[in-house]
Amino acid sequence: MAHVEVDFERCEGHGLCEQAAPEIYRLDDDGELELILEDIPQELRTRAEAGARVCPVAAIRITG
Ligand code: SF4
Repeated sequence: MAHVEVDFERCEGHGLCEQAAPEIYRLDDDGELELILEDIPQELRTRAEAGARVCPVAAIRITG
């Protein structure tokens, strides 16, 4: 199991992570990022990393 960590202080709600991996990242109606999955199975790790890579403020970290 890998783990997705978001620095919510840093997140500016650009939503690029959601575009890259909508099964993991979602912006709510107020434009706040919500994690659909925090603990992700290994088969979703590449998807989670794709979201982290496109984040313009590097607010996402995948661990584990
Ligand atoms: S791409 Fe980065 S700044 Fe944009 S919503 Fe996702 S975590 Fe936040």
